Amino acid sequence: MILRELIINEYKRNGIIILISIVSIFLSFLKIKLGLFDFAWIGILLCGIPIIKDAIIGLVFNHDIKADVLVSIGIISSIIIGEVFAASVISIIMAIGGYLEDYTVNKTENSMKSLYDLNPINSRIIINYNKTNEEEVFTDIDAVKVGDILKVLPGETIPVDGIIIKGSTTVDESPLTGESIPQDKKINSRILSGTINTYGTFYIKALKEGKNSSIQNLINLIEEAKPENANIVRQADKWATWIVFIALIMALGTWLITGQIIRAVTVLVVFCPCGLVLATPTAIVAANGNLSKLGILVRNGKTIEILSKINNIAFDKTGTLTYGKPRIINIIPYGNITKEELISLSSSIEKNSEHPIAKSINETFKKDYNLNYLNVDNFKMILGQGVKGKLLDKDLNQKLNDYKNNNQNEIFIGKKEYILNYTKIPNDLLNKYENSTIVYISTKNKFLGAIVLLDVLRSDSKSVINQLNNLGINSIMLTGDNYKTAKSISSQVNIGDFKSNCMPEDKLNIIKDYQNSDKKIAVIGDGINDGPALKKADVGIAMGGIGSDITVNASDITLINDNIKYLPHLFKISRKTLNKINFNIALSLAINFTAMFLAIFGIINPVIGALIHNLGSVLVIINSSLLLNYGINNKDNKSHLFNLNKDYFKSKI
Ligand code: ADP
Ligand code: MG
Repeated sequence: MILRELIINEYKRNGIIILISIVSIFLSFLKIKLGLFDFAWIGILLCGIPIIKDAIIGLVFNHDIKADVLVSIGIISSIIIGEVFAASVISIIMAIGGYLEDYTVNKTENSMKSLYDLNPINSRIIINYNKTNEEEVFTDIDAVKVGDILKVLPGETIPVDGIIIKGSTTVDESPLTGESIPQDKKINSRILSGTINTYGTFYIKALKEGKNSSIQNLINLIEEAKPENANIVRQADKWATWIVFIALIMALGTWLITGQIIRAVTVLVVFCPCGLVLATPTAIVAANGNLSKLGILVRNGKTIEILSKINNIAFDKTGTLTYGKPRIINIIPYGNITKEELISLSSSIEKNSEHPIAKSINETFKKDYNLNYLNVDNFKMILGQGVKGKLLDKDLNQKLNDYKNNNQNEIFIGKKEYILNYTKIPNDLLNKYENSTIVYISTKNKFLGAIVLLDVLRSDSKSVINQLNNLGINSIMLTGDNYKTAKSISSQVNIGDFKSNCMPEDKLNIIKDYQNSDKKIAVIGDGINDGPALKKADVGIAMGGIGSDITVNASDITLINDNIKYLPHLFKISRKTLNKINFNIALSLAINFTAMFLAIFGIINPVIGALIHNLGSVLVIINSSLLLNYGINNKDNKSHLFNLNKDYFKSKI
């Protein structure tokens, strides 16, 4: 069983190989031998040979000159001159470096898997489709079978491969194909699992089982998160190439000038840029580990580095600065329609939307009114403006309009500008509810009423903006909501610069403006309407809990628990991480150069060289690992302790 796992699991196997090698090098260090056999050979065979093999493959097939070439020359020449112990130590150190890289990969994969667990792709199976007793059941994706009818809302990931049987939409296929232009889909179009519905509500017939589709999805996500794709782990190799050249020249020079090949080998050994290679990945792994403890998931290794250079952040309002769970404070019917009719009509349409406003209208309807949904059809979402749908309820339609033969009414629900396209809004409703979000409801030519909602500011918002300010990070707010609400919220949290009535492309353009004037900017948001801005931003941060799949997919960082209170920490640790990386690089270069001079002048031999070198790597790893708990030791307790001490000292004075 264990053996089988070791054969399959490369990661565990390498761990065992390194352990065996370390034991053998200790035996060798203690001069314990098996007859004439020096245990150091085990380290060379297990760790050294694979490195030499990879170096040769890289050199011959990819013309890659990396640290491993130098290491290989070092190992081989050490063996030739009889320094088996040194050769073994170098091999093992390099293997540990490689192991840490694997660890990075595993770590990211695991956190991606846990994100997947936290955000399972659910599906709405429709039972008795198109019959009077049609019903919607929310199930786990694994329960979906071929032939099931499923309903998909805007912003959702398509749960299984299928074919559209009702409705139309545009689909963002970039998670699967990389194609960034959304594709139009109508009846009979095939639709792929893992792609994202950007626009309409529609029904599909499943062509595959849910199980198969979700696995494919998971693979895609994990592939995307691999450090090779993020190209940071091997970034130090760029430097390493130069160092390899310098080292070779130095070694050759030393040999020619002093005539002592052992000095040349020592130069090669001490010059192996292990510390340099470890400098970046170890710091990134530690920072990501730290952040994952706080529910912050970084998808890309490069993100931390970019974040450390950012001085601007754009906040979305609804759902980001506020909880995004607005409470209905007033329902105002207009004309001959009743309150009950207005809310039934609104929620029958809004039940197709994932917008926070829609959700709260629905919740109120279900909780406070004992009524059935009305029949609606042709639901469409107009991003950043509102929704529309056709009302099929005969009685209400006749009441709404006295037109003859009018058994279908198109209903519009949304912001002022959207409704004004169709009807006038009574003056007393236009300016009455300041500081709250108000949505208006109308048909094509008749105003029907308004629903007033009040969202609550997240308790952390104000202090987060304040702390960011202290870090020199300028916050702005971009919202699709009206000017007055925007102004009220932004002044409550101390954001000086805000923009209201933003359409998704307005948000995008503001981000572009920043970038065009050479300012880097992060964006944090939860809604589908934030997607384009999140993608364009230098770093996009998604609210993972409240946010839609689109938002999470467009972002570089996900706050799994929607905890914006850790934003300052995120910025702080990114800067700290970059400092660590720079320090690590400086430290390993300093050690390398010092040791090289000691080697040239014959002050140290290859074994001491390897130990000094080893020391460099260990220091780098220790330094990086300090990031793991950075800023998350119970802060409150600490400050408490500090206050106690202050009081204590005061009492002594
Ligand atoms: P924000 O940027 O604050 O998150 P959105 O861009 O999502 O806001 O929405 C902007 C405005 O459009 C909302 O304040 C609301 O008036 C209107 N709106 C958007 N979606 C809906 C909906 N499903 N129902 C009613 N109104 C909506
Ligand atoms: Mg929002």
